[in-house]
Amino acid sequence: MSVPSSRDFVFTAQPSRVVFARGSLQRLASEVTALGARRALVLCTPQQRDQAEIAAALLGPSSAGVFDGAQMHVPIESARRARLHAQEVGADCAVAIGGGSTVGLGKAIALESAMPIIAVPTTYAGSEMTPIYGITEGGEKKTGRDLKVLPRTVLYDPDLSLGLPVGLSIVSGINAIAHAAEGLYTRDGNPVMSLMAEEGIRAMATGLRGVKKDPGDVAARSDCLYGAWLCGTVLGHVGMALHHKLCHTLGGSFNLPHAETHTVVLPHALAYNRTATPEAMQRIAHALGSPDAADGVFTLAATLGAPTALRDIGMAEAELDRACDIALSNPYWNPRPIERQGIRQLLQDAWAGQRPAA
Ligand code: NAD
Repeated sequence: MSVPSSRDFVFTAQPSRVVFARGSLQRLASEVTALGARRALVLCTPQQRDQAEIAAALLGPSSAGVFDGAQMHVPIESARRARLHAQEVGADCAVAIGGGSTVGLGKAIALESAMPIIAVPTTYAGSEMTPIYGITEGGEKKTGRDLKVLPRTVLYDPDLSLGLPVGLSIVSGINAIAHAAEGLYTRDGNPVMSLMAEEGIRAMATGLRGVKKDPGDVAARSDCLYGAWLCGTVLGHVGMALHHKLCHTLGGSFNLPHAETHTVVLPHALAYNRTATPEAMQRIAHALGSPDAADGVFTLAATLGAPTALRDIGMAEAELDRACDIALSNPYWNPRPIERQGIRQLLQDAWAGQRPAA
């Protein structure tokens, strides 16, 4: 048997159609027809009802109306209501216009009904490119992977994120950077995903700096959305590690806000893994234009005015020991072995908002 080289990899590409263009929402009706569907139900949060009404109007006779019951963390009751409503109005397709929460509702519908989903993302979280779903039942969020939930078509229209508040833009963009960063050191990575990850981090960082300067800059919004596509694709194809595990623990057990938690924890997770994955760290640092990956992410967040401390987003210091216990209770792969002392210190540093040590 030959000795494997470090370039060995397995890559299974996932099928999805992506249309990336300013004004691509105008193509919605023809994209519904291209899927062989006839009546599409438009999903949104109550806050994005106006955008959803525009999408429904563009669908014309192919519209089955708007369902504005999307909520954070996809409570199972909202998914059941949406499925029932889709049946009642005779929908054979759903259009999810919004962020990860609305796309998540579309995925919950697809999981049970195999209804095709068209995603129209208006944040940069990247969920539209993944077969990962999350549904909350009895206070517990269950996640899984199933190709049935992968949106069949994704329309990226930079104009639709022009109204996304700057603060939300920054944290959802850094949430996406976290997918790409961990995708660079995951054990099931491959060279194509690594190229996408590095380019995704570069595009997102450039776009976010532009959005901070001028939220109405369409070129900057395009960079962010392009970054979201790349980073989301990485998350959809390869496994994650320490950072995602910690954020899942902090969000699930302490109810911390999703994108803000990713933003605060990422520099510290990268610092923890720094010596175990030098090549990945070099690529992340290069994409950020910084000498160091962890410091580069911290600087990006701090200079753009995003939160940098868990204590500022609702975490009590007294809960850090319990958070550490939960994170360690369920073994998972990470390039550097998971050690209690190091993880407890990581949580302390993230809580205090300390710049990761060199
Ligand atoms: P979100 O979807 O929760 O949206 C936050 C708020 O911003 C909502 O009120 C929404 O209506 C509003 N909003 C969205 N776009 C807007 C716009 N352009 N203008 C004005 N308001 C707008 O936020 P998110 O960060 O996109 O998603 C977070 C959720 O997505 C989490 O539950 C997370 O677990 C999930 N997620 C899942 C995956 C996956 O692969 N399954 C990946 C990333 C995130």
